[in-house]
Amino acid sequence: MADDSIAVVDLDRCQPDRCSYECKNYCPPNRTGKECITLRGEETDQGQPEQVHISEEICLGETCGICVEKCPFDAIEIINLPQELQDDPAHRYGENAFSLYGLPAPQDGQVTGILGPNGIGKTTAVRILAGELEPNLGRHGEPVDWDDVLEAYRGTELQEYIADVRDGEVTVARKPQYVDQIPNSFDGNTRELLERTDERDALDHLVERLSIGPVMDQSIDDLSGGELQRVALAATLARDTDFYFLDEITPYLDIGQRVTAARLIRELAEEEDRSMLVVEHDLAILDLLADTLHVAYGEPGAYGVVTSPKSVRNGINEYLAGYLDNENMRIRPNPIEFEEHAPRTESRGETLVEYPDLTKRYGDGEFSLEVDGGEIRRNEVLGIVGPNGIGKSTFAKLLTGNLESDEGDADLDLDISYKPQYVTIDQHMRVDAFLSSITNQFGSSYWNTEIAQPLQLERIMEQNLSDLSGGERQRVAIAACLSDSADLYLLDEPSAHLDVEQRVQATSAIRRYAEQQDATVMVIDHDIYMIDLLADRLMVFDGEPAVHGRAGTPQSMRGGMNEFLANLEVTFRRDERTSRPRINKPDSQLDKQQKADGEYYYA
Ligand code: ADP
Ligand code: ADP
Ligand code: SF4
Repeated sequence: MADDSIAVVDLDRCQPDRCSYECKNYCPPNRTGKECITLRGEETDQGQPEQVHISEEICLGETCGICVEKCPFDAIEIINLPQELQDDPAHRYGENAFSLYGLPAPQDGQVTGILGPNGIGKTTAVRILAGELEPNLGRHGEPVDWDDVLEAYRGTELQEYIADVRDGEVTVARKPQYVDQIPNSFDGNTRELLERTDERDALDHLVERLSIGPVMDQSIDDLSGGELQRVALAATLARDTDFYFLDEITPYLDIGQRVTAARLIRELAEEEDRSMLVVEHDLAILDLLADTLHVAYGEPGAYGVVTSPKSVRNGINEYLAGYLDNENMRIRPNPIEFEEHAPRTESRGETLVEYPDLTKRYGDGEFSLEVDGGEIRRNEVLGIVGPNGIGKSTFAKLLTGNLESDEGDADLDLDISYKPQYVTIDQHMRVDAFLSSITNQFGSSYWNTEIAQPLQLERIMEQNLSDLSGGERQRVAIAACLSDSADLYLLDEPSAHLDVEQRVQATSAIRRYAEQQDATVMVIDHDIYMIDLLADRLMVFDGEPAVHGRAGTPQSMRGGMNEFLANLEVTFRRDERTSRPRINKPDSQLDKQQKADGEYYYA
């Protein structure tokens, strides 16, 4: 038997009453009379047991994998664990279930970051650290208590922390990942929600810094995603606890808001000596935010490994390189690389469309947008950046013809395929049916390689749109947008709710699509790394959010980044090893020098 392999059965997928037990019938040990795959659990209405169980003692391991191939519902994974992984798990949810190796080590006065994909056990780790889930150290059938856990972590960074958890001395505040769901669990306005949480008497300060004032008396139901995110952040940071866990702070926030959120979290750690644990997929912000970093890797849904703490710089560099130095572990075949110098200064593509100066006013002129005329080139990826509420979506609607301009005529004779910022595909329809209704390429080998694989759609094809998680919904919406046949593809915040690995894959899918299909793509996003990796040119919006916006003409990456970051007063330096951009400390020598030189990004 292969003692370093694990078998994971996804019980939501396994449907023994709808298959004829192919896994069990074809399993080689079973065929020689051994009980490798067996049936367990209660009998269903059809009179059959409801789940299969795989003996990891008897299973031959990943090299066999016959059951994995045979299962029509993709419910089984057989995985050889990396040999480097010598520890026992911290927790395993059960036999044939997800196991977590390693735990992050939060520390007083520090912001500890976790970098890794969704489904890798981050929430499991936090539930353990919050004392909600008593870890079983992967030992089934024998009782394990906190004293055993303490024993297992004696001599590690976690010893003291676990002793506090055992003694019930750790209190926790948490910001959930999907803020869109907050209105489902709270009736009332912003003020009522926030006042309940103000244990540190810090609310006024947080409300001001996060610019929540204008929505204090609004019903939570009516808040936008960006507003909900800031309210949720304020509600969490206002609590008086030892340990704060923030699961993604950036979705729907613009860059200025992201930087403010990062600074507030740092201040709470430093000034009040609290311990903060943050999961974040925007690498530029994670870099600014965290003191130390745990990289999480593994097979989402099957097992996850949380590494020992690394410096933030090394953690992100190793992650981008796809290779973890101390662990001697390759986590991705290819490195992610940034260009040090402004790329593709002028793309030579021919003009796809020219639009004139445009003006749009809403209602009695509460908000107005002025657009400087420009051109969009065939076959380019045009990045669009600027604060929230500045008119980016309004511009998009002018282009798509969903909105009429007051001055200037954007009468574009173009088919535009549009992915909105808030994805609202929640009909009761399966993913495969939905996507095949959009393109007759659905299921072709081309479509599978270019769209389904990079966007990791295979495993969710049979699910209902309404059952998808935020990240899954985003991937389906990106696929739907790119699958449509159109002259121009417009993606509004494709990074929202994608984990860091999915961002990388979505970025390369969008770029390849533009290059291979001769497609023109416009991408609105606030993740600087994603924009850097995606865009050939940049369109910058500025002005006063919710009052007046101006859309500049599309320009080179260097010119665009300089203009955009000058508005924000943020400069980036280059990491010596990887050339990736890193936000400078305000008023550091580099920050001052670069501002004086007018080089905010490609210095
Ligand atoms: P992350 O926070 O990194 O997205 P989670 O810790 O939420 O990951 O989940 C990791 C894996 O553990 C998932 O595959 C999930 O299905 C599984 N899991 C979570 N809770 C349970 C549970 N109570 N029983 C069995 N499996 C679980
Ligand atoms: P962005 O996409 O940059 O976040 P938007 O174009 O969505 O900005 O919105 C710009 C401003 O216009 C915001 O203040 C928004 O509230 C306002 N706005 C958007 N749509 C309407 C509308 N239909 N009627 C009135 N105001 C609107
Ligand atoms: Fe049986 Fe293991 Fe082979 Fe699956 S991988 S068929 S459980 S031996």
